[in-house]
Amino acid sequence: MLLFKQVPQLQKYLDTLRENNRNIGFVPTMGALHDGHLSLIRLSKQGSDFTLCSIFVNPTQFNEASDLDKYPRTIEKDVEMLIGAGCDALFLPDVNEMYPGGSQQAETYSFGDLETVMEGEHRPGHFAGVGQVIKRFLDIVNPDQMYMGQKDFQQFAIVGDLLRQLESKTELVMGETRREPDGLAMSSRNMRLTPEERNIAPLIHQTLTAAKGKVKTHSPEQIKQEAIRQLDIPEFTLDYFEIADATTLQPITSFENTKSAVACTAVFLGKVRLIDNILLY
Ligand code: AMP
Repeated sequence: MLLFKQVPQLQKYLDTLRENNRNIGFVPTMGALHDGHLSLIRLSKQGSDFTLCSIFVNPTQFNEASDLDKYPRTIEKDVEMLIGAGCDALFLPDVNEMYPGGSQQAETYSFGDLETVMEGEHRPGHFAGVGQVIKRFLDIVNPDQMYMGQKDFQQFAIVGDLLRQLESKTELVMGETRREPDGLAMSSRNMRLTPEERNIAPLIHQTLTAAKGKVKTHSPEQIKQEAIRQLDIPEFTLDYFEIADATTLQPITSFENTKSAVACTAVFLGKVRLIDNILLY
C-alpha cells in the first residue's frame, strides 16, 4: 500500500492514474478502523480501479473539545487492516496539510433544512466542519467515486447536497451499516464503552428494529414515543429519536405522503455518544 502525507505527491500520483484511464475510489475516514470502514474499502475495490483511503481526525467537525481529545487513534493497526483489505493507498495528512491557511480560512457551506435537524441540531457546527473537510478532500483527490456509510445517514445526505452545490462529477456511493453479531453498529467510539455499557448498547439497534416492525400499524408519533420509552433506561441518556423523510430528513407526522422514511437516534452511554438509524421502508 502506498502512503502519502503531502498533497503534491498524492496529486502527482493520482494524475498519472487518470492519464492511464483508471478511475479513483475514495474512502474518507477518521481512523480507528473497523470492519465498517473496511466494507467501504471492499465496495471501492469492486466499483473503482484504484482505492484511496484517508485518515484524518478533522478538528473542525468536533463541537466538543473533549470528544476530539478522546477520539481513538490506532494508526499502526489501521495501516495493517488497510493492507489486509487490499487498499491501494493511504492519505495521512496533518492539520497544516489540510488547512494550510488555518481552518478559519477554509470555505464553508450551508445545507438548509438538512442541517437544522438531528445531528445538526444537537451538534452545532458539526456539518459545517464536515462540509469543509469534504470540500478540501474533493479539491485534493477529485475522486470518480466516493464511498460513505449509511451509519452516518444525515452526513451522507449533507455530502450529497454538497456535491450538488459544487456541481461535482464525483459519484457518492452508500455502503450499508456493518454491525457486531449482537446488532450494535460498528463505531470507532465503541472501544470507549465500559463492559457494562457495551452489554446494554445493542438496545439501540433493537429499538430501531422494533420501530421498523410497527410501520404498518402505528403512526410516526406512536412509534417515536414507544422507542423513547424503550430507550429510557438508567444507562442511557437520549439525545434524540426521530422518524423522518429519508430524502429531506424532516420529521414526519404521517407515512402517507412519504416515499421513504428513516428512524434515526443518538444516545449517550456515559460519556460516549452513539448514533444509529434504520430505513423503515
Ligand atoms: P468515520 O471514521 O467515523 O468518519 O467514518 C468513516 C466512514 O465510515 C463514514 O462514511 C462512515 O459512515 C462509515 N462508517 C462508520 N461506521 C460504519 C459502519 N458500522 N458500517 C458502515 N460504514 C461505517
